[in-house]
Amino acid sequence: MYLTTSACTKCAKCWEVCPTDCIKHPDGIPFSCTTCGICASVCPTTAIRKNRFGGYYVDRSRCTRCGMCVKHCPFTFAKIVNDRVRGICIRCGKCVDVCPVNARIDILKSVKQPIDYAVLLEVATPERLKAIIEGKPIEIKAEATK
Ligand code: SF4
Ligand code: SF4
Ligand code: SF4
Repeated sequence: MYLTTSACTKCAKCWEVCPTDCIKHPDGIPFSCTTCGICASVCPTTAIRKNRFGGYYVDRSRCTRCGMCVKHCPFTFAKIVNDRVRGICIRCGKCVDVCPVNARIDILKSVKQPIDYAVLLEVATPERLKAIIEGKPIEIKAEATK
């Protein structure tokens, strides 16, 4: 999962380069698919699979376009466009490479494994992300995995 720091100038390069269209930008602040894997867990044909970078890809030969991943994505990233599932982060790192001010950070590299996605998802809502970027305190209710 990648987060955006306050260094972001809202230049749009990251979401323009993202090959899976998984970066939303509320108020111009990039917010990308968290790679929580909920889509993969609900897919009835196991079409959504983890890749070696820790992201997810969709095996088109298995995908029936049933829409379960779209329905269950907590942040409405997953979508079906032109008969293909889109919006799920493959962790290619292009958004990091293209950012001129190094505002994109890979949180998977900086937090202890295994990640408690209940905590991560609570932190990663667009509203909370905006608060983090603006330097406001946030309250985390779920308990972190020890
Ligand atoms: S639309 Fe495809 S990838 Fe999504 S849950 Fe259904 S079969 Fe799986
Ligand atoms: S790592 Fe790749 S797929 Fe994920 S948000 Fe960045 S550019 Fe998009
Ligand atoms: S490329 Fe960097 S500075 Fe530009 S919008 Fe994305 S995170 Fe912000």
